Amino acid sequence: KETSSRENNVAKIKVVVRKRPLNKKELARKEDDVVSVCDNGLTVHEPKLKVDLTAYVEKHEFCFDAVLDQQVSNDEVYRETVQPIIPIIFQKTKATCFAYGQTGSGKTYTMQPLPLRAAEDLVRLLHHPTYRNQKFKLWLSYFEIYGGKLYDLLSDRKKLCMREDGRQQVCIVGLQEFEVLDVQIVKEYIERGNGARSTGSTGANEESSRSHAILQLVVKKHNEGKDTRRNNDTNESKGGKVIGKISFIDLAGSERGADTTDNDRQTRMEGAEINKSLLALKECIRALDNDQLHIPFRGSKLTEVLRDSFVGNSRTVMISCISPNAGSCEHTLNTLRYADRVK
Ligand code: ADP
Ligand code: MG
Repeated sequence: KETSSRENNVAKIKVVVRKRPLNKKELARKEDDVVSVCDNGLTVHEPKLKVDLTAYVEKHEFCFDAVLDQQVSNDEVYRETVQPIIPIIFQKTKATCFAYGQTGSGKTYTMQPLPLRAAEDLVRLLHHPTYRNQKFKLWLSYFEIYGGKLYDLLSDRKKLCMREDGRQQVCIVGLQEFEVLDVQIVKEYIERGNGARSTGSTGANEESSRSHAILQLVVKKHNEGKDTRRNNDTNESKGGKVIGKISFIDLAGSERGADTTDNDRQTRMEGAEINKSLLALKECIRALDNDQLHIPFRGSKLTEVLRDSFVGNSRTVMISCISPNAGSCEHTLNTLRYADRVK
């Protein structure tokens, strides 16, 4: 009894900031590190000019649930953010972990190892005496939202569509799910999926910064002979009842939402779509935090897809990634203000 009440005390919404170190280019340019971290607070020292062109520094102070300084390892990030949620996935929790921030701030670096570590712990629990006889299985899927459309990253970028069933459960029609029998396979799926992320003529990072990548680990209960076979073309085709799940979301570069005045029509439209989804996401998390009955998930494809993770027993972790260099100051402040609003 005591354990279960303690486990359920995992905060409903947790906002964490992660600062990356200055990179080689920034060091070569002798750029200043303008972000200082102290416990769960941080200060941005923004370089500014007065009208008479004398330089001064404007300080901006913030406070979050946790601030992870540049020397913090990915393992520590996992322990701080995702690990506390893992046990309650088996208790009907739907959890979401987002990485938010400008391109180059460390979103992918941060998100990449998390599903692997989570799968390790989930598989360990699956084999634990508490759950061993419960016919639970772990499934993995990986898809992308690009320009408001869904693509399966584990089946040749097949275009997918979304459907809601009568019980307001989200179904992504045709999405491939793979059973996770051992953890090594998770690494392979992640690599395969990353290879399939949108890459245009302009280069991989450029294009992938315009899409949201969503990797889901789902725990299902399988009753032999009673598998749901009504929807042969949906995620339920593999049978089983969803017990809990965790979604890892590497969001589009936050600065891409500002590409709404670009000369290129395609870029403008993508920018508008990204802007819409990041705003809708913020609104949904705020509504969730305020225990609002109405969650405005219809605001974008991203939030619609996550609908079932915004209702009922849900947990949200937002990891806001920031660059430390003076040149990124404006984007860093935008990211911190976004995180501040979500908190
Ligand atoms: P994003 O996905 O936000 O565009 P990346 O994750 O690709 O950014 O990171 C940009 C670069 O910075 C990569 O080369 C990555 O290896 C490096 N990097 C990011 N975060 C860290 C960190 N915490 N420590 C060391 N290197 C990092
Ligand atoms: Mg990235």
